[in-house]
Amino acid sequence: MDKYILSLDQGTTSSRAIIFNHAGQIIAEEQKEFKQYFPKPGWVEHDANEIWETQLFVARNVFKKSGISINQIASIGITNQRETVVLWDRKTGEPIYRAIVWQCRRTSEMCKVIEETGIKNIIRSKTGLILDAYFSGTKIKWLLDNVSGLRERALNGEICFGTIDSWLLYKFTGNHCTEPTNASRTLLFNINTGKWDDELLDIFEIPKEILPKIQPTSSYFGKTEKKYLGAEITISGMAGDQQAALFGQACFDVGDCKNTYGTGCFALINTGKKPAFSENKLLTTIAWDLGEGLEYALEGSVFIGGAVIQWLRDKLGLIQNAYETEALAHSVEDTAGVYMVPAFVGLGAPYWNSDARGTILGLTRGTTKAHIVRAALESIAFLSRDLIEALQKDCGTRISTLKVDGGASANKFLMQFQADILGIPVIQPAFTETTALGAAYLAGLYSGYWDNKDIIRENWHIKNTFKPKLDLYKRRRIIRNWDKAVKSTLEFKL
Ligand code: ADP
Repeated sequence: MDKYILSLDQGTTSSRAIIFNHAGQIIAEEQKEFKQYFPKPGWVEHDANEIWETQLFVARNVFKKSGISINQIASIGITNQRETVVLWDRKTGEPIYRAIVWQCRRTSEMCKVIEETGIKNIIRSKTGLILDAYFSGTKIKWLLDNVSGLRERALNGEICFGTIDSWLLYKFTGNHCTEPTNASRTLLFNINTGKWDDELLDIFEIPKEILPKIQPTSSYFGKTEKKYLGAEITISGMAGDQQAALFGQACFDVGDCKNTYGTGCFALINTGKKPAFSENKLLTTIAWDLGEGLEYALEGSVFIGGAVIQWLRDKLGLIQNAYETEALAHSVEDTAGVYMVPAFVGLGAPYWNSDARGTILGLTRGTTKAHIVRAALESIAFLSRDLIEALQKDCGTRISTLKVDGGASANKFLMQFQADILGIPVIQPAFTETTALGAAYLAGLYSGYWDNKDIIRENWHIKNTFKPKLDLYKRRRIIRNWDKAVKSTLEFKL
């Protein structure tokens, strides 16, 4: 009887279930979207029960679709949207409040107040993060401060906290555990010791009683209760989405780097067994723990990546769909001097300017739709290049190739331009579902479905390599122009 791995990919807008075979190929997949709640400007919530129900629904349906039986599943891996917070009743398993999503800005002011107490360096050296509403710590504090009676119940041990990995695990198995990639995004986890940190817990006034136990990323987390999938199946891998993608891209060695081109762009570089601390406000994060100790990565993100293409479609009406941008960009020789800086929500690393707003520069009467579309695609590559340059500076190594994934990485113009301005080959793998695949690998390595990482390396195949073609002189010139466009953008204030 052939065996498979089931990967559960719990994302920000949908829950997915994918069955993989030994070659890392997709046998079947199922996806279900769920509701986004925006109760106030800048606030974002999910219904934790709906997350669980949609995840269970797709897990059950993927078997119906594939004809594979649950008994053919060797083990299950979970990957998830990171930083999102769920608090629930330890006895009943009922959520106390809606899940507060990573995008939610409700604790921005709280972060400023905490920062004034002079704890910036402690946060940086212990967590590798910056104090920002994005991470879990202040979201948990907000719930404890604002839900009546919750702090007392938490101190009495009646309440569980979890990121989404932990929440799903609890629902499937009754166990209250997490692992370091998710823990390292909470502001409560010490990346040097690999443990929850008392000083950090004091800073955020969070009682220890609510915390899940931390286990290696690839380890035994428990068995699913029979009533859910029809059999007890071992969950043996859990990781946050970006780290799972790094693993799925087989970025196992120091200096291996991937960039995901989704709504935003996320670049991670493997820095090995030691944390590298950034001079450019990049984040130090846990890559994984395979049971042999912590491994680290540096991470940076571009806020608006593929989203600039959605903007061209939905707000400007310049295109009907994202796909047509490739042909439009190719229809002109260059942007005819047009540069777009899509700083719609400020600029992230290495600029870190939250007041910046988007610009289009260099317009003439000769500017056409194709020039604008091309400038938008180029901006995704320029912003990613800025990020990757910062990653290289911080870890003191040159990146020799860049592995890519995510929806917008399907755009061949974008990938070629990325190679041209980085001056290194950009490599598109055959299987682009790297996040779900990474979780499957983490689970399957522990359960013995895959013997070792070498098999994963062998499974990883190249679909396309985009070699840099632009001559050095031209590359320098357009990068200089891009830098000028960013400078003008940062100077512009209403
Ligand atoms: P997420 O996981 O963040 O939802 P995806 O990886 O699904 O994102 O990628 C979707 C994003 O990629 C959208 O912002 C979309 O505009 C962009 N995108 C998808 N296909 C293309 C394409 N062919 N060219 C450019 N951008 C694209």
